[in-house]
Amino acid sequence: MGDIDGNTLLARSLKEQGVEYVFGIVGFPVIEFGMACQMEGLHYIGMRNEQAACYAAQAIGYLTGKPGVCLAVSGPGFLHTVGGLANAQINCWPVLVIGGAVAQDHEGIGGFQECNQVELARPYCKYSARPPSVPLIPMHVEKAIRLTMYGRPGAAYLDLPANILSQRVLEEIVPAQYKVGPIPVIYPQPSLIEKAANMLIQAKRPLVIVGKGAAYARAETEVTNLVNYTNLPFLATPMGKGVVPDVHRNSIAPARSLALQQADCILLIGARLNWILHFGRPPRFSPDVKVIQIDICAEELNNSVNSAVAIQTDIKPAILQLLQILESRKYVFDRKNDWWNQLNKKCSDNRSGAQAMALDVSTPLNYYAVFHHLQQLFPQNPIIVSEGANTMDIGRAVLTNNLPRHRLDAGTFGTMGVGPGFAIAAALWCRHYAPNKRVICVEGDSAFGFSAFGFSGMEIETMVRYKLPIIIVIVNNSGIYGGVAKEVYSEFQESGEGTRTVPPTTLAFSTRYEKMMELFGKQGHFCETIPELQNAVKAALSVEDSPSIINIIISPSADRRPQTFAWLTESKL
Ligand code: ADP
Ligand code: MG
Repeated sequence: MGDIDGNTLLARSLKEQGVEYVFGIVGFPVIEFGMACQMEGLHYIGMRNEQAACYAAQAIGYLTGKPGVCLAVSGPGFLHTVGGLANAQINCWPVLVIGGAVAQDHEGIGGFQECNQVELARPYCKYSARPPSVPLIPMHVEKAIRLTMYGRPGAAYLDLPANILSQRVLEEIVPAQYKVGPIPVIYPQPSLIEKAANMLIQAKRPLVIVGKGAAYARAETEVTNLVNYTNLPFLATPMGKGVVPDVHRNSIAPARSLALQQADCILLIGARLNWILHFGRPPRFSPDVKVIQIDICAEELNNSVNSAVAIQTDIKPAILQLLQILESRKYVFDRKNDWWNQLNKKCSDNRSGAQAMALDVSTPLNYYAVFHHLQQLFPQNPIIVSEGANTMDIGRAVLTNNLPRHRLDAGTFGTMGVGPGFAIAAALWCRHYAPNKRVICVEGDSAFGFSAFGFSGMEIETMVRYKLPIIIVIVNNSGIYGGVAKEVYSEFQESGEGTRTVPPTTLAFSTRYEKMMELFGKQGHFCETIPELQNAVKAALSVEDSPSIINIIISPSADRRPQTFAWLTESKL
């Protein structure tokens, strides 16, 4: 046996623990580690901003069920990952951030990029630690990886001082390290499943809600079988979309508000009653609704509302057992009853409202027209990455997901700027697991700004470098939420510096974002009409070795259809 340095041991430990992808930006003191990753057979993806690298690492974690690694240098580089760490932890997605750190003999005396990284990461992590010596690296890697995956998934951080990374030790003093064992399955208490079954059978207005926990749990077969057999109506949360296909006849997405408000019994499968589900409280929910809550995390049970049955369990065994009982009792929810009639009517009313806007192709375009026509041209089952306010909300309603884990968006933390990182991870996933699948990144112009210029500016360069054929569609209304009309914008430009007059939501009018492709000797697409959009999508789909940008101009005042409830504005405290 010879000797081994910290860099190699760290890379080897990651490989041994099942890591496949490292997204990062190198610099002192982690350059050699980046190289060591490739020597050990890991995929290393060099990114342009640490935050985007962290988004990519967590998206690959969600898509594969194993954490991606995000690598950053000390101090500022590390700090850029914190937004990503928080996003992963709050989304319950596995990720491991590895930060280089100042050499320990420079600590406390103003070392280069010295920063208390372990403590800064801790609030957003399940585990945050610094291996105290080279031989202890494998143990900390195992623990970090295990914690990202076991129980409720989440984030971990490991801090690697420069001196530990470069130090060499005799291999024989490195203790053998076991591998992370299979994720333990948590089985439900049978009496609770029995109680849940009884409650569903008695319900007059039952509803199934499918969350992204069901997607993460890979419970698509079980949940779809349940819906198929029982004929229960279901709603998906944004990233729960596709666990049961959106096109399934029991999807009542267009009647969401009514369903939430009037359901008397809700089977909540891997979703939290947080802001996304209006806290499970009136006025959005009935005060008498009985919630059957299925979640792997005991601490989540009875959060916000007191569930009628709260079951700590993995989704797969819980739904299997529930279905067994319902089958043995021959429980099928009748499609001809009042509840289904009411839901069906609401669905068709709301569909025709949206359809009218979808077919209105007058310019400047509206959101519904853009999404409707995009959807028609999409290849089969693309992975849709989406962010932006209206772009994400309206896009969610119009763009269908018929497979699980095919939608990546701003998520529980509502983070704008995730798009390019998520799209890069999704495109790599496609390359390795589904080569004919495409990734379509539908961004609002402001969201694209957060991600593409402010933070992850040059991630398009990353996409070009690794030949990732991501189609970025920028739905450009010249503003955050909305912009101002061209004439108004011109007046602002002429009337002085603008800092007291230009509304904070305004962005430059009809910016030519697609020209960013020219930086790489390629052409983007600028569209103002539906035929132009159609040609652009066709052209972009024919490109298989590089990203494309489609910049579609819509009205600065395009809006959502009128909603029953104002978004995010109701608070009674
Ligand atoms: P959504 O955004 O779709 O509402 P959330 O992220 O709020 O979903 O909730 C997902 C829930 O799923 C979390 O509370 C998490 O603990 C839970 N979860 C994750 N994996 C599993 C699993 N394997 N079995 C059961 N619950 C899970
Ligand atoms: Mg906008």
